[in-house]
Amino acid sequence: MAKIAIIGGGIAGSTAALYLCQIGLDVTLFEKRSSLVSGPPFCHLHAGGNLYREIDDTQCVTLLHQSIDLLKFYPYAIDYRPTVIAIPIIDSGNPYDLKDRLLLLRDEYKKSIKKDPSNKVLGEVDEYFKFYSKDDILALQINEASKHPKNLDEWMVPVAKNLDLEKIKFPLVIVQEYGLNLFRLASGVTKAIEKLNNCNLQLNTKIQNVKKDDHTNKWIVDGEKFDYLINAAGFETGIVDDILSYKRERFVEFKAAYITKWDKCDDIWPEVIFHGQRGTPNGMAQFTPYPNGYFQLHGMTNDITLFENGLVKSSQNSSQPSLDPKFINKIYKNWEKEDIESRTKLAIKHICKFIPQFCGGSVASKPLYGAQQIPGDNKELRAADVSFESDNYARCEVVKASSVLTMCDSIMEKLILLEYVDKPLQGKRNFDDLEILFNDIEKYAQDICTQRGYPSSLALINRDH
Ligand SMILES: Cc1cc2nc3c(=O)[nH]c(=O)nc-3n(C[C@H](O)[C@H](O)[C@H](O)COP(=O)(O)OP(=O)(O)OC[C@H]3O[C@@H](n4cnc5c(N)ncnc54)[C@H](O)[C@@H]3O)c2cc1C
Repeated sequence: MAKIAIIGGGIAGSTAALYLCQIGLDVTLFEKRSSLVSGPPFCHLHAGGNLYREIDDTQCVTLLHQSIDLLKFYPYAIDYRPTVIAIPIIDSGNPYDLKDRLLLLRDEYKKSIKKDPSNKVLGEVDEYFKFYSKDDILALQINEASKHPKNLDEWMVPVAKNLDLEKIKFPLVIVQEYGLNLFRLASGVTKAIEKLNNCNLQLNTKIQNVKKDDHTNKWIVDGEKFDYLINAAGFETGIVDDILSYKRERFVEFKAAYITKWDKCDDIWPEVIFHGQRGTPNGMAQFTPYPNGYFQLHGMTNDITLFENGLVKSSQNSSQPSLDPKFINKIYKNWEKEDIESRTKLAIKHICKFIPQFCGGSVASKPLYGAQQIPGDNKELRAADVSFESDNYARCEVVKASSVLTMCDSIMEKLILLEYVDKPLQGKRNFDDLEILFNDIEKYAQDICTQRGYPSSLALINRDH
């Protein structure tokens, strides 16, 4: 049986390990931290890429299909709530500019259900998105917010009641873009891997020494021989590339999202996105709900989510972009308390421009943060997965978490060529049930939140779905 080494247990490396073990391969997963999926965060599934009006339709369609696939693979990690997209008055965009893309995505969703009825995971096709005029919103204001929203109108009620309608253009859009829960995913993938006898999980193991034995064509990682090497080291992928003298262009970007509590809020909210130009004071604002009044905030300005000099590129001499030590310090040590307070408060202020009641929101914990890689020379690239070097080296390069199964499929193609796996296994998705209960996943996810210093509510499942 072929022996596979994976360096890095983020979502890319952990999913590759889970997938390849279920195929029957002998996998060793090396992770330098003490738990899996503990790198940069994620909270959006990106089923359609609707948060990114600047990317092309092809990337949006790819993200839609990849997200449907991921949702079926990790059903317990999905936060089922739609997303409202609002265009601020001060923004040059027009809400109708979104319409053609939404129609295209709805059509793609319909086609994917026709191909495989189990792909119907984003609700009814006719309810994939809906536009709301100002009159529609005013009419919703008289409704009570539902504790168990069942349709798009019910989801829209808290938005209708709380948005400053003078600050946004109409119509508003609501779309079936769901959340991806970092903590439940970390919990579920860990529990699954622990159940598999052919996965050797090596936590707290930093790989610094990798080389190829030119006689046998095998990799020697941590003193052990492997047939195939998967570099899934996230923003540090270039460090492994450099050890092996592989040249690769990439960006690395440090970013953060802020955790807040809105004590007065007990409504069930959808996600709300306020579009804006990235890197300007009016950069996009993202209002991501969690149970019990917690909200995660992004503000695509240089003093909230983005950072001055936070985006760096690889060079002629190194495949690893060099991040300023102050970001490395944030990643591996911690944030200054004042920094947490000041950036989170700026994030609250950014959202308050559109949701005035949220001004009562407060800092709930340290931010979710980290550095991510973007392969190639296009920093707007969002749908990326894996690249290869020699015949037995894969380099995982996901920008969005939803691309990880496409990444596994491409790695499988190579393993089939090497005759390590049989061709009929290509594209396999259904594996024997590992019998892990959603309740156990949720419980362990809450423990992960606590261990990492976040409110345990961030791990809770929306039980209405
Ligand atoms: C603020 C922010 C918000 C984001 N929001 C979203 C979102 O909503 N949706 C989305 O899809 N994406 C989002 N992303 C991007 C997403 O976080 C990343 O694309 C994704 O986590 C990358 O996963 P990965 O497994 O490739 O890398 P990582 O998660 O970085 O995993 C790499 C792992 O390798 C380990 N490692 C590195 N070197 C070694 C070594 N030498 N030996 C052993 N282990 C090693 C690291 O410890 C790490 O655990 C966001 C990113 C940020 C920063």
